[in-house]
Amino acid sequence: MPTPPPTSPDQLPESMPAALLYGIRDIRLENIPVPRPGPGEVLLKLASVGVCGSDVHYYVDGRIGDAIVEAPIIMGHEFSATIAELGAGVESLAVGQLVAVEPAINCGHCEMCLTGHPNLCPNVIFCGTPPVNGVFTHYAVMPAHNCFPLPQGVSAIEGAMLEPLGVAIHTVDLSHLKVGQTIAVLGAGPIGLLIAAVAKAAGAGKIYMTEPLAHRRQFALDYIADEVFDPETQDVVVEIMRATAGRGVDVSFEAAGAQETPEQGAEMVRLGGTLVLCGIPSEDELHLKASLIRRKGLTIKMVRRMKHVYPRAILLVETGMIDVKPVVSHLVALEDIQDAFEMVAGYEDGVIRAVVEMD
Ligand SMILES: [Zn+2]
Ligand SMILES: [Zn+2]
Repeated sequence: MPTPPPTSPDQLPESMPAALLYGIRDIRLENIPVPRPGPGEVLLKLASVGVCGSDVHYYVDGRIGDAIVEAPIIMGHEFSATIAELGAGVESLAVGQLVAVEPAINCGHCEMCLTGHPNLCPNVIFCGTPPVNGVFTHYAVMPAHNCFPLPQGVSAIEGAMLEPLGVAIHTVDLSHLKVGQTIAVLGAGPIGLLIAAVAKAAGAGKIYMTEPLAHRRQFALDYIADEVFDPETQDVVVEIMRATAGRGVDVSFEAAGAQETPEQGAEMVRLGGTLVLCGIPSEDELHLKASLIRRKGLTIKMVRRMKHVYPRAILLVETGMIDVKPVVSHLVALEDIQDAFEMVAGYEDGVIRAVVEMD
């Protein structure tokens, strides 16, 4: 892979275009100053930035739970970049290096950070979550230790996909899936597909998925799933119980964020099985039948972002154990970002994951 020539600070522009979300369905391109890195930080020249479902939640609803868009904000947190400038004291990286970037900046000294749960850090600064700006722009500053150099052969687009892949790795970690076990994944969006891919790499026996969109059902079949069911024309619980001879799957992963999918996930998992909830519902409510989950003795896990996953995500892609490229269905330019958000929000044009290319 050709590495771009190093950018010395005097070659940097003073301002850059950025996509600011002003309110519901209102993104505007404006010029903002190019930031400069402080000690321990690097200036990144953005390469590829994915349009995440959570970005689309802010675009459509203006909020996720109590995280509310109150002032114009740059979204975008799934990204790769080249190092444009090193802040004071940074020795682990080099200008021109292509890196994937962990978007969560945790404090490192709270109880959760010190006990190995940086994803639960209450002091976290997370790119592209109100009020912190993300990276739908040309340059951004991040701590050096959030940057993971990509090996030869891993592209910028693949680098941007390491963030959702990381969420999928963390999700499968939470399930304690054992080799040969059966799983169901509810929702064949990018996260559901990547959960299935990680579970397969981890040795899942059979993979069943549910998905209302026809193009995503077909994609899931081609990409990873053994069987895919349509919740709008089929009783997905009946189908998966049939497919498992009445036993149910060992683990069900909810990755749709629909009202009914957590309950379906609970119904299709076996006695003593595990239900992992990953989706973000538009309404801030979760519906599960108490008697069902109690009588089955289910283990229920909630996914909160991810932790300690980037080195594994890079290896899974580098070795070819997981191919993230097919999940990227659309490459778009920053100037067309509002159209891209409309497309993703409306599930138009067979979109799976749209990635904004900054160069
Ligand atoms: Zn995301
Ligand atoms: Zn912390």
